[in-house]
Amino acid sequence: MTGPANPGGRRPPVGTASGGRNPTTPVASARYPATPASGGRRPILAANWKMHLLRAEAVAHCRALRRGLGSSSVRVVVFPSFPLLPAVAAELAESDVAVGAQDLHPEDKGAHTGDVSGAQVADAGCSWVLCGHSERRRDHGESDELVARKVAAAVRSKLCPLVCVGETREERAAGRTLEVLARQLAAVAPVLPERFVLAYEPVWAIGTGEVATAATAQEAHRFLRGRLGELLGAERAETLPILYGGSVTPDNAAGLFAESDVDGFLVGGASLDPEKFLGIITVCV
Ligand code: PEP
Repeated sequence: MTGPANPGGRRPPVGTASGGRNPTTPVASARYPATPASGGRRPILAANWKMHLLRAEAVAHCRALRRGLGSSSVRVVVFPSFPLLPAVAAELAESDVAVGAQDLHPEDKGAHTGDVSGAQVADAGCSWVLCGHSERRRDHGESDELVARKVAAAVRSKLCPLVCVGETREERAAGRTLEVLARQLAAVAPVLPERFVLAYEPVWAIGTGEVATAATAQEAHRFLRGRLGELLGAERAETLPILYGGSVTPDNAAGLFAESDVDGFLVGGASLDPEKFLGIITVCV
């Protein structure tokens, strides 16, 4: 399945691997207006640090990121693990880099030892939260229904949910990719707020070094945008960012970002190296 060449009007027709971008264009380019209009989707670069980094490393990482970013037209969000949140939020205060949590409990408070609420991560400086990452679905048996409850909890705490969907290798081999994406999206649809971001993360590409081809990513993103259109209206769907995640590196980012429905990246492994993450960001400005 392929969509129209430039359905969102976000970019001019793609002529090169970097989306026809002029390498001399200043970082804060007028190509991506800060307020997206008529489908002008601003790129988002999200870093999932998973269960990595100690506080001193995280602080050094934030400093490198701030130094390297300057004034950028892209939105950048980092997702550290819970104990790092206050230090990272302090380090990134008054910067353009937002902070998100990797998880939250579906309830707002209560007897849930070891869990963390939306209000608590918001209080620690978060404005975003990951919901439905495949590692949570795999390691903690998170169902579609639980992911939807977590999205609802995020909304109550005024956090922007970054909702992850994606098929396993077996599901792709069985030709069930689009069915799985439709099911995962339908589960969260009733609770999606005004402000949310979707990430297509094929499970077989996460942490494996086996990145999806640009065509594979585009097919999934176009499908998801079509479904969002059915759920929320076609016009709105064209304004909603859909990120790709799965073994993104500075070397493969340009080809993926050239696709008209790929609006940025959720990056795991490569985001742990500020140079590599900045290299991926550079592709999207
Ligand atoms: C992720 O954790 O969401 C991810 C995409 O990881 P990686 O980039 O390492 O594949």
